[in-house]
Amino acid sequence: MANIAFLGLGNMGGPMAANLVKAGHWVAGYDLVEAQKQTAAETGVSIMGSAHEAVAGAEIVVTMLPAGRHVISAWADLLTAAPKGALIVDCSTIDVDSAKRAHEAGAAAGMLTLDAPVSGGVGGASGGTLTFMCGGSNEAFDKAKPALEAMGKRIVHCGGAGAGQAAKICNNMVLGATMIATCEAFALAEKLGLSAQALFDVASTSSGQSWSLTSYCPVPGPVPASPANRGYKPGFAASLMLKDMRLSQEAAASAGVATPLGAEATQLYALFVAAGHGGDDFSGVINFLRGAQPFG
Ligand code: NAD
Repeated sequence: MANIAFLGLGNMGGPMAANLVKAGHWVAGYDLVEAQKQTAAETGVSIMGSAHEAVAGAEIVVTMLPAGRHVISAWADLLTAAPKGALIVDCSTIDVDSAKRAHEAGAAAGMLTLDAPVSGGVGGASGGTLTFMCGGSNEAFDKAKPALEAMGKRIVHCGGAGAGQAAKICNNMVLGATMIATCEAFALAEKLGLSAQALFDVASTSSGQSWSLTSYCPVPGPVPASPANRGYKPGFAASLMLKDMRLSQEAAASAGVATPLGAEATQLYALFVAAGHGGDDFSGVINFLRGAQPFG
């Protein structure tokens, strides 16, 4: 069992650290917010007075922070205090360029590094069923795997530095765009006098099939577990979807790649969030689209 430091004990990091404790690891935790520290302490995480204290003596350091700038600054700090040769794993969802910079800083400090963003949300974090998308060397991946297995059920090595973040945002760009396409189809079907169930029965077994339709249907009825059946309570909040869509657009701009559907979907989620729906499930964008004026 490993000596693990965990920085960022929020909605995701808190239950992830708790699962490491459950698996028998010794976990030293730190967060900037008192309430997060208290909740984590109740699950067996040993709360330290600073990030430096938490990482001193750690074989593995996990960060689970809001955005790239937090990761860059937290890593700059922790790299001066963690033992040489430690493995530093960032599980936050951040921009690919920051992820690569973090790897470079880690390597310069003599550490093993891995970017390992997750999918599965707070439910997956609590249940230990997250998917980890990992970028880094084989050595870093092999060393991280047993700890990641305590927090997730699929651990995928996507490639070198930044490949985990690339996989995460490419996947979520597909999700964001297919959800909007699916919502548009249901809104159009309503106006054409086609029932939602009939559209579902056809599209779910035809070429219109996607996860947005069959697992997360944006209208109530066809998929009873989808957020549409509980007033679009998340699930996956629109503000988080917008964050990931924006990351995909930053990566596209940085790589010089045209992603016109991704760009349009990003704009629609931005409007949805600006209209006060950031806390709604992202599939609630269907109600927004129903009210939108036809284009052209
Ligand atoms: P959160 O805001 O609940 O938690 C982030 C925590 O980091 C906060 O408690 C904050 O106080 C702490 N923090 C910030 N700077 C710190 C520092 N320097 N040292 C220690 N702690 C610090 O956010 P979350 O929902 O847990 O998400 C974390 C990451 O996971 C984000 O990058 C998010 O995009 C990603 N993610 C979230 C979900 C989700 O459903 N919530 C799903 C997949 C991925």
